Amino acid sequence: MAGRILIANDMVTHRIILKAWLGAAAYAVSQAGTGAEILSAARSGEVDLIVMVDNLPDQSGTEICRQLKANARTAAIPVILLSDSHTPARRLQALKAGADVVLDLLPDDALLRARIRNLMHRRAAEQELVRDSMESESYGLAEPAQAEFAACGLVTVIASSLAQGLRWRNGLAARLRDRIAVVDPDNALENLNGEPPPDVIVIAADPADPDRAMQLLCDLHSRSETFRTATVVVQPAPDPRQAVRALDMGASDLVDSGFDAAEMALLLRRELARKARNDTRRAALQDGLRLAATDPLTGLYNRRYALTQLDRITRNALENGENFAVMVLDLDRFKRINDQYGHAAGDAVLTESARRMNSCLRRDDFLARIGGEEFLAVIRNCDLAAAEIAAERLRRTISERPIDLPDAQGAETMTLSIGLVVGGTQEAPQDPAMLVSLADRGLYTAKAGGRNQVKLCQTAA
Ligand code: GH3
Ligand code: MG
Ligand code: MG
Repeated sequence: MAGRILIANDMVTHRIILKAWLGAAAYAVSQAGTGAEILSAARSGEVDLIVMVDNLPDQSGTEICRQLKANARTAAIPVILLSDSHTPARRLQALKAGADVVLDLLPDDALLRARIRNLMHRRAAEQELVRDSMESESYGLAEPAQAEFAACGLVTVIASSLAQGLRWRNGLAARLRDRIAVVDPDNALENLNGEPPPDVIVIAADPADPDRAMQLLCDLHSRSETFRTATVVVQPAPDPRQAVRALDMGASDLVDSGFDAAEMALLLRRELARKARNDTRRAALQDGLRLAATDPLTGLYNRRYALTQLDRITRNALENGENFAVMVLDLDRFKRINDQYGHAAGDAVLTESARRMNSCLRRDDFLARIGGEEFLAVIRNCDLAAAEIAAERLRRTISERPIDLPDAQGAETMTLSIGLVVGGTQEAPQDPAMLVSLADRGLYTAKAGGRNQVKLCQTAA
């Protein structure tokens, strides 16, 4: 199903035309004749987008927009308002009330459909993000996304000339508290490389060179730094064909009667708020994923994540003919700390041990807590000699200096036993579980041999 569109238009001929256009694009179209009917259809949850005229018999379009936006059930439904007299002031009023787009009473059909595609696409993407981030919240994986703190955003203006860009910035600066940068249109892409990437980019469409803005849109949406950046295109005069192209190339919004600072400030505030909201949701999702993979006490990866990672590292290494070390590391006589000083002291020893071991490893290496005082380390790209040096370094980092205990209970010197196997060699097993089991066997030998040592166990034989 391409989407359910509610058309509200009391002019029968227009309604028939709109219905035919949208039906041809495979939308499921329903109709309403009054504001009351719109509101009740929207609240039923069966409407994905509303196209309405702004002079329905019972209420003005602006008033209906206001009511839709005021209700949490209907606030996210995109609204296209059709108006016969959209002077800048009227349009601004409708946008302020919450209309997403204002078009002519009988707009260009291709443009109307492009606007609908654009709004539907955005709504679907946002719904997916909300669903995913709520899922991670409901598993208790992340804090609920905070309402936007309205952090200061960055808007970048790419006008037709630097002078025009500066004029636009002046108009916006009085109305927005966000940072506004102006980029020379002649080498816009090179000049966008600064950190952080802009939240919104305003792009002037030049009728003499329409491809320039299109090319820019394509470039921006294909680059990793800017593919989440919102884009607003400014046409100096209506040009439906180019507008359709821009919207289908991913422009977030478009104005077709030149730059009006008040209107642009409103659209930008809307894009900035939307981007901030989505960034927060995405961050909550990331946090959820990270938390699902981490051990809360030490911040290291947990056992489940460690085993999947080891599986991946093993397969990669085998494909690339790379040797790698797998170690199982266990603190010696750790129970004594708990028994003597209490659980909190034990926790402090675990946390500090994890921190020290982690600081011995390179970026590509991997450390996880796989049991109470048991850890798994994977060292990438190393032969036996390098593996033994790395293991020694890990052993020493624990024993070389006492670990402070909380509550002024002094400090204790801990030691670490390590079992080691090198994977990726001819004789080594290819199965990650088998590698861990060999390293475990090495650990057992190290414990039996008096602890505080590294033991290699290379083959099952
Ligand atoms: P060995 O040298 O043979 O490894 O002796 P050990 O005392 O280190 O090993 P043992 O397995 O006997 O004891 C491990 C202890 O670790 C027992 C358990 O209560 C404690 N432990 C497990 N998880 C935690 C934790 O999260 N915090 C604290 N404080 N202790 C934990
Ligand atoms: Mg132990
Ligand atoms: Mg143990």
